[in-house]
Amino acid sequence: MDIEANIKRYREELGSEITLVAISKTKPGSDIMIAYNAGQRIFGENKIQELSDKWEALPKDIEWHMVGHVQRNKVKYMAPFVQLVHAVDSLKLLKEINKEARKNDRIINCLLQIKIAREETKFGLELEEAKEILSSDAVLKFKNVKLIGLMGMATYTDDTEQVKAEFLKLKTAFDDLKKDNKEFTTLSMGMSGDYQIAVECGSNMVRIGSSIFGER
Ligand SMILES: *Cc1c(COP(=O)(O)O)cnc(C)c1O
Repeated sequence: MDIEANIKRYREELGSEITLVAISKTKPGSDIMIAYNAGQRIFGENKIQELSDKWEALPKDIEWHMVGHVQRNKVKYMAPFVQLVHAVDSLKLLKEINKEARKNDRIINCLLQIKIAREETKFGLELEEAKEILSSDAVLKFKNVKLIGLMGMATYTDDTEQVKAEFLKLKTAFDDLKKDNKEFTTLSMGMSGDYQIAVECGSNMVRIGSSIFGER
């Protein structure tokens, strides 16, 4: 893989309106540095241990996103530096992030993960549950987290019509929730295999791993 060329190609293709999160999970720091030297500053990981090891080792102007499922007992390891948590799927988790963010005197941006795929294995909230969280009294008291949007993963399938329907469902939910949530700015959807459909459906943040860094 020509990581440098891939970064440049994606940045050009996506333009300035769509944020590219380069998903570097399982890849070594040397690969990340090739992307960094090509101008990329936002990287995503799906395991907190790996995320914090890489944060310690690599340049401090990298913006680190946690894109995977978060275990509550590990939030403390990312709280000092994480810039965006993509997959918040419960009020309990949000409470923990708020607590650890406060200890670090930070405000941590979060997205609620909505379940749009058919697969049972995928995490995420039903839209109604997300609405409940957003309108709960508890959330209003969390001063150290900011809910800035939604994230979703489509079903892993060749059926592009199905993928499109799932992304459109998420986009509709995002637009709907944005009316009452003024801090909503970010819709994280699309990966290597489906980002073009996601962008067509209104994504403004894509998470691309294997087609930048190679197969894992
Ligand atoms: C691994 C991962 C990606 C990137 O997947 P690719 O298919 O390699 O682009 C995106 N989002 C999440 C949540 C991931 O875990």
